[in-house]
Amino acid sequence: MKINTEGIKSFIPTQTIEDLIVSESNAPESRIRDIIAKSLAKNRLNPDETAALLSVKDPELREMILQGARDLKKQIYGNRIVLFAPLYVGNECVNDCVYCGFRISNKECERATLSKEQLIQDTKSLIDVGHKRLIMVYGEHPIYSPEYIAETVQTVYDTKHDNGEIRRVNINAAPLDIEGFRIVKSAGIGTYQIFQETYHEETYKKLHPRGPKSSFLWRLDSLDRAMQAGIDDLGLGALMGLYDWKFEVLALLYHTIHLEERFGVGPHTISFPRIEPAIGTEFADNPPHRVSDEDFKLLVATLRLSVPYTGLILTAREPVEIRDEVLEYGVSQIDAGSSIGVGDYAHKDDESRKKSQFVLGDTRSLDDVIYELAKGGHIPSFCTSCYRAGRTGEHFMEFAVPGFVKRFCTPNALLTFAEYLHDYSSERTKAVGMKLIEQETAKIEDDNMRSSVMEKLAQMKAGTRDLYY
Ligand code: SAM
Ligand code: SF4
Repeated sequence: MKINTEGIKSFIPTQTIEDLIVSESNAPESRIRDIIAKSLAKNRLNPDETAALLSVKDPELREMILQGARDLKKQIYGNRIVLFAPLYVGNECVNDCVYCGFRISNKECERATLSKEQLIQDTKSLIDVGHKRLIMVYGEHPIYSPEYIAETVQTVYDTKHDNGEIRRVNINAAPLDIEGFRIVKSAGIGTYQIFQETYHEETYKKLHPRGPKSSFLWRLDSLDRAMQAGIDDLGLGALMGLYDWKFEVLALLYHTIHLEERFGVGPHTISFPRIEPAIGTEFADNPPHRVSDEDFKLLVATLRLSVPYTGLILTAREPVEIRDEVLEYGVSQIDAGSSIGVGDYAHKDDESRKKSQFVLGDTRSLDDVIYELAKGGHIPSFCTSCYRAGRTGEHFMEFAVPGFVKRFCTPNALLTFAEYLHDYSSERTKAVGMKLIEQETAKIEDDNMRSSVMEKLAQMKAGTRDLYY
């Protein structure tokens, strides 16, 4: 693949963003109220409005924003949380991103790439705890070619074990050219996710000193190329801690607007990971723009309100207490039971951290996370139905089609949750989960839908699997 940035122009207006952060600070309460109301009426916010939310310092006004995000989540998305796991395929990397444990200059990183047999073993381990959705993660290296990525995705889809299988594979991999994206798409991937890391070009250049990733523009343009290759299910993100988080949130919004304007469709998901410590990586112990927990809450709530139609992903980088709280501000997907060392799911040992990209904050098992979610009234969902039924862009439909959540999302969450409880859960999770399913089924207003769900739940109990609407 040849990197060619000719003709690519940045759509990130650096100076405008810096100016907005200054000019929109100290917005009065009435303006903050109006902006929240605009979002609750299902409108994407404009950059000046997002800047006003981000700049709020007054604790009461901040609380109003958090409440706005809670309300939006409740009104549009309900109480489901989609669960997935990351699967690290290989940590070879030719880049030197200063914050990452996989960077080429890190002598403490033990390099590993799963063989086909190991990939099958790891996939089986994930299937055996109940996972249905994965994100496969790759370093950047010539061996992880588009053909290789497509082949590994196919291997995962082909792996079946007992009642289980992986039904949706998303990928997080280095940017490809259009032809490369076509090859990857042909393996039936769900979302193609890539993080710009920082949208501040000058900072980006310092933190990515060598390798193909040193080209800011090639990376910035990657989702455009994916879209041109026919992948319209895209995940944006920025790594929080490299530059001012307010700048990054506004830049994520500008990226969203760019995709909307050029392709008529915005991102499917947005991620906002904070930097975590990594082996042999001093930079990550003390990132220059660390985001405090309080600011992180405002960051998530502001993103929720700014792009109401997009799914928000919160990863196990965050500690349990933060995850529990931030879930309420509009997060739609979390990973659980995650391991991020190459080959860890099948064989975890004391050396695993040397093959890991960074250190996780939430190391609970999938079953423990599910138990806590269900106890808190959230319906854990492994739903993959829209993607398999050809209803792509489910988040947009949830958002735009009246009644969509009631007709598809909630029933499918209940069915996939029941499947998990029958096949994989502990007794304590099953007890709490079955009760929640009963309560939530009783709440379904439409009589036909309610009896249909009850019928499918009974079929599930009798042994049928993979039922969905
Ligand atoms: N190598 C590909 C790339 O850089 O796009 C894809 C995979 S990379 C393993 C996935 C993401 O992990 C990166 O985009 C980066 O945002 C994140 N990451 C790297 N180092 C991290 C750290 N120390 N803490 C948290 N996230 C980190
Ligand atoms: Fe390589 Fe990605 Fe890590 Fe950068 S973030 S060193 S490209 S694995």
